[in-house]
Amino acid sequence: MAEDCIFCRIVAGDIPGRIVAETDHAVAFLDANPLAPGHTLVVPREHYARLDEIPSDEAADLFGAVHDITDSVEAAVDADAVSIGINDGEAAGQEVPHTHVHLVPRFEGDGGGPFHAINPNSEQPSDAELDEIADAIRDA
Ligand code: 5GP
Ligand code: ZN
Repeated sequence: MAEDCIFCRIVAGDIPGRIVAETDHAVAFLDANPLAPGHTLVVPREHYARLDEIPSDEAADLFGAVHDITDSVEAAVDADAVSIGINDGEAAGQEVPHTHVHLVPRFEGDGGGPFHAINPNSEQPSDAELDEIADAIRDA
């Protein structure tokens, strides 16, 4: 546990968190500043700042929890869909350095847009550039 981490303190029960589900390695609780009713965060119990720091068995449990909880979140607020995402790193908008998966309920016509709204003016890469990037990811 990181003493100065707000999510570690919620997981530990030190501060109130509106926890909605728990598994061996994951805890889900309501976001304090929701983007929509039912906005839920799913976090690993242990303190890991970035996704790649989570051991694979704990990551599997985390994403298993995401899989199992999403339906309940959608149903509880009578939503039409759910946007699921991680701001993985500061440049991606991560403000709390304890990895968390956002489950944001979505409603027809809510105007929130898809993930493509992150960078609507991105340039289409050439086939060669796509090949190069795919190679780089495979190599890494
Ligand atoms: P990030 O920008 O790091 O991906 O998202 C952090 C999220 O944590 C935000 O949606 C924010 O509303 C939420 N948050 C920040 N502080 C607290 C808190 O003390 N309790 C809860 N439940 N959520 C918080
Ligand atoms: Zn933490």
